[in-house]
Amino acid sequence: MQVLKFGGSSVANAANINKVIEIVKEKIKTDKIIVVVSAFGGITDILLQCSQLAAEGNEAHKKKLHEAELRHLTTVKELITITQQSAVLSLVKTLCNEMEDICTGIFLLKELSERTKDRIVSYGEILSSKIIAAKLNTEAITCEWINSAELIVTNANYGSAAVDFSITDKKIADYFAASTSTLFLMPGFIASDINGVTTTLGRGGSDYTAAIVAAALPAKVLEIWTDVSGMMTADPRLVANVKIIPEISYQEAMELSHFGAKVIYPPTIQPVSSKGIPTWIKNTFAPQDNGTVIQKETSNNTNSIRGISSINSIALLSLEGSGMIGIPGFSKRLFEALAVKKINVILITQSSSEHSICVGMDASNADVAKAIIDEAFAYEIETKKVDPITVEKDLAIVALVGDNMKSHPGISGKMFGNLGRNGVNVRAIAQGSSERNISAVICTQDVKKAINVLHEEFFETVYKEINLFIAGVGNVGGKLVAQILQQQQYLLKNLHLKINVVGIGNSKKMLFKDEGINLKQWKELLINEGEAMDMQLFIERIQSKNLRNAVFADVTANEMVATCYEQLLQKSISVVACNKIACSSTYAYYKKLKNLSREFNAQFLFETNVGASLPIIGTLNDLLRGGDKINTIQAVLSGTLNFVFNNYDGKKSFATIVRQAQSEGYTEPDPRLDLSGKDVMRKIMILAREAGNVLEMEDIANNSFMPPACMVGSVEDFYKSMEEHEAHFRQLFIDAGINKLKFVAGFKNGKASVGLQHIDSQHDLYHLYGKDNIVLFYTDRYVEQPLVIKGAGAGADVTASGVFGDIIKASRV
Ligand code: ADP
Ligand code: ASP
Ligand code: MG
Repeated sequence: MQVLKFGGSSVANAANINKVIEIVKEKIKTDKIIVVVSAFGGITDILLQCSQLAAEGNEAHKKKLHEAELRHLTTVKELITITQQSAVLSLVKTLCNEMEDICTGIFLLKELSERTKDRIVSYGEILSSKIIAAKLNTEAITCEWINSAELIVTNANYGSAAVDFSITDKKIADYFAASTSTLFLMPGFIASDINGVTTTLGRGGSDYTAAIVAAALPAKVLEIWTDVSGMMTADPRLVANVKIIPEISYQEAMELSHFGAKVIYPPTIQPVSSKGIPTWIKNTFAPQDNGTVIQKETSNNTNSIRGISSINSIALLSLEGSGMIGIPGFSKRLFEALAVKKINVILITQSSSEHSICVGMDASNADVAKAIIDEAFAYEIETKKVDPITVEKDLAIVALVGDNMKSHPGISGKMFGNLGRNGVNVRAIAQGSSERNISAVICTQDVKKAINVLHEEFFETVYKEINLFIAGVGNVGGKLVAQILQQQQYLLKNLHLKINVVGIGNSKKMLFKDEGINLKQWKELLINEGEAMDMQLFIERIQSKNLRNAVFADVTANEMVATCYEQLLQKSISVVACNKIACSSTYAYYKKLKNLSREFNAQFLFETNVGASLPIIGTLNDLLRGGDKINTIQAVLSGTLNFVFNNYDGKKSFATIVRQAQSEGYTEPDPRLDLSGKDVMRKIMILAREAGNVLEMEDIANNSFMPPACMVGSVEDFYKSMEEHEAHFRQLFIDAGINKLKFVAGFKNGKASVGLQHIDSQHDLYHLYGKDNIVLFYTDRYVEQPLVIKGAGAGADVTASGVFGDIIKASRV
């Protein structure tokens, strides 16, 4: 004997029922079978709404009821040939009339008890099972319809009644022993109490009906036919790359379903596991798929985690107070109080200080629970031994489940590390001593992100997904996008990273696509589909999307953008900036950002602030981490100034050379930032700050070589005025003689300075060509000979590649 249960979606309409019939036809070729069916998908909800409306005195309940009736009548008409319809149509009519009578009663009395609700919803399963039985009979497949309510006996806890197994098991065994039929059809979900009053087994309870019947016989197998091809590693509605779990133990399935894997109703496992009945989850719409088998022993699971699940609408109630410490009986009283009101506790934590007990429960019970606990502890609250109970709502539980977790240390570390890095705050944690389940209470709004982060960590063998937002898609930003596009395949293959560019924006427009912007067409998409740029809105979107592994890249030179980093870091969103403004603004802001990055576990990376993609800041940090100390820095840090002084020989005008530097993309958008030395000041300040020093721009001496007259007015005025001062620049060149002119930044004894210097041929800074940068670090370990970093220090391509490098770094922690 085998038991097959078909869920609501499997019997939602005539087409689906035909698939069910096919599956049943195949099965009866080899064995006797019992088919348990749910109500047509959605009908239970409609019937509940209908009774609720009636109880509120709302006439709309009639429309709802009519909707339910029509669904059944239409299905019959589509399922059964006209000549054979009339008996079943009139049965449907009769049953619907009964429901109407009951609803009229509710409407008139404006009273709806749990008992009446059970009565109303029971029609859903009765109708569907009667219709399917009729269909089988019209196909000349003899099937015996059984009223489950006559076999399954429960207590009178309407809505979620508890089965009396001693009576039920015997009734079932006797019934089937006495019947010679080979195919039976039963409504799921419904039962009756000892007085014959209809009860139900809880939402999703048809699975349970099937398990009760299977265990009572006992059946050879139980098959739960639904709309997915098995139990998955996570809820497929929340995670894109879920995998089917081929086999799973009863305990694991129980934990997963208890913590939200809706595919199986949790009480289902107990009867089948007690009899060791293998239970399959199969897909009605893909019967050829293997599905999942739930059984006692599973072959070795190489992964320590079997699945991840979540439950929303959780409330956390905390009982706290110094009066609880060391005094036995507090928790007993707490749980007794909850038990009296039949409140189910989902999770419990108690700190070892015994100063607080925290219980997680369905949020709908929270107010009643608070009232009853406050009442139970009224004396202690009044005498201030404990505080009034606190209630937090809008919470959810995420749980990792796996029998193998027991033998694998470090799983909770990985779990909480990943949640933390993604800004998911954990409110409470529970792990049973079976080590089969680790549960964390988090905010509801973080559930999707948390489940995806954990799924990626524990199951994603293919790749990790980075969700990137880019502000500024001009010269450098455009190159960055091109590099990402070019490297996509390499990153996937070699680093298992998928960069999803979710948002881009320039000064005019911004564009978001959760599934990732097609980087081959970003320009057209931004123009055609982008909305007007609003930086604050851009940041708010990033926050509200609440995506995992989120990175924001600031490829602008904009002050306003630099002020937004704190809002991002606070949400654990990493910030990668080639924009120097944040790090070179006040020390207080720089420090604040560094602290936020530490506090919220988000990366704040700005390697390109100094020397484009040269590994200057990274090296400096590595030296410090290794216990070294930076004593002196000497550097040529302006690609522009180096280019200009390397190329200026008094033949072409100074202004012409500067123009060339600008057109080749080495300068800041306003070249005066470079020429004035201000840009170099910023860079040396950033290095000095990174080396652990507190300094501001005004602390840096700038021995500028630019005539002040050149620095006023527009950029064009600046070029004009440089032409007028050509003699001044030529004189600088002549004065240098055989030495080279270099604009040098220095840091020594806590003081920073920048200025033009004559460099002789013996000096480390002498052989520096084109737009190259050089940095010399003199440290406790590099005393005589400095650590030298040298190479191209400007240009859109190298800057973009430095930003790219930081993005990869931010995402690989
Ligand atoms: P039925 O109507 O057949 O009883 P349910 O809707 O109760 O079906 O359960 C099946 C649904 O459970 C799937 O469509 C899926 O969206 C959801 N689900 C949630 N978590 C999981 C999981 N871990 N594995 C498979 N399905 C899951
Ligand atoms: N029809 C019931 C429900 O929707 C039982 C079930 O489908 O399992 O909850
Ligand atoms: Mg179900």
